[in-house]
Amino acid sequence: MEQFNWSEIIGHKNKINQIREMIKAKNFPNAVIFSGVAGIGKRKIAEIAAAALLCENDDADNLPCGECNSCRSLIAGTHPDYYTVEPDRSKANPMIKIDQIRSLQKEVLVMPILSDKRMVLIDDAECMNNVSQNCLLKTIEEPQGLSKFILITSNRSRLLLTLQSRCMIINFERLTEENIKSGLINRGTENAEKIAIISNGSLGQAIGLAENDGLQIREDSLKFLENLSKLNNEEIFQTGQQLSTQPKDIFRDWTINIQKFLRDLLIVDTEIENNYYYNHDLKKRLQKLRDKLNLKNIFEMMNQTTEIQRRLNSNANLELLIESFFIRLRQAAKIK
Ligand SMILES: [Zn+2]
Repeated sequence: MEQFNWSEIIGHKNKINQIREMIKAKNFPNAVIFSGVAGIGKRKIAEIAAAALLCENDDADNLPCGECNSCRSLIAGTHPDYYTVEPDRSKANPMIKIDQIRSLQKEVLVMPILSDKRMVLIDDAECMNNVSQNCLLKTIEEPQGLSKFILITSNRSRLLLTLQSRCMIINFERLTEENIKSGLINRGTENAEKIAIISNGSLGQAIGLAENDGLQIREDSLKFLENLSKLNNEEIFQTGQQLSTQPKDIFRDWTINIQKFLRDLLIVDTEIENNYYYNHDLKKRLQKLRDKLNLKNIFEMMNQTTEIQRRLNSNANLELLIESFFIRLRQAAKIK
C-alpha cells in the first residue's frame, strides 16, 4: 500500500465522514460492501479504512496515524494481518477462484499477529461465483470475529442476497464533473474540463479517456455522424478500413460515442438540464444534427448501434463489421 491519507480521496465527503465516525466509535461492522461504479475511488477508501482500523494509535484523532508499527508495515506492504483477494485481471474473464476463498478461510482461523484484528479486502467481489460466495458467507459468519471484511463491487446485483444481507452496504455515488476535473488537473492531464464532461462520473474512466485519446475518438465519431448522409460508399469503406487497422476497442469506443450522441439527440430540443446529457458541451452541433434527422432515423440508428455492439463480441471480420454498420447507419439516417 502506498502512503494513505483521507485527503487524497476526491469527493464522497459524507460517506467518508460516516466511515471515519464508525471507526472512531469502534463500531465499524464486521462485513461491509462498498458499492458503486468502477473508477470512483472505492478501493482507495477501503485501503485507508483498513489502515485506520488496524492502526495502533486507535485513540488518535486522525486515523490512520501513519507512524505506528501497523501503519508502517502497511506502507511497506508487509502487514501480516492485512489480506486482499482479487481476480487475476490479466485474464479475459477475471474470476476470484474458490481456492482463493478457501485460503482465506484458513487464514482467518489464525490469530492476528501485529494488530488486534485482521482486515480482509475483497476487490471486484462480483467476480466470485455462487460457490465462492457461499464459502465466503460461511467465513464471514465464523464466530470468533477477529476479522473484518470489506467487499468492493461495481456490480452488486451479482452478489447473492444472502451474502448482501450479512453486510452493511455503503453506496458511493458517481463523482461530479467538478471533482473529476480537479482530479485530472492534479494529475497534470490536458483538456481536463472536457474529459470530465464525458467521463460518466468516474475518475478511472476519465483517466482512461485521457490516456486513450477519448476526446479525439469522440470528435471523430461526431464528425462522422454529421457527414454521414453525404458520404459515398468509397468514403465509408475508407473510414472502415482505417478503423479496422486499429485495436477493436477504438471502434467499440466509436459505437459507445455514437450511442451517447443519439441519446443526446432525443433531448436536445427540450429544456432539460445539462447533467442529463452525455455531451452537454456539444449541444450546438447536436442541435444542428437533430434538425437533419427525424425520430424514426434516430431510433433506427440506435437499433443498429446496439446490434453492432452485440456483434463486436463475435470473431467476425472487423473491417466487414464496420463497413456494414456504417452502411446500415446511413440507411437508417435516410428513412422518411
Ligand atoms: Zn497507525
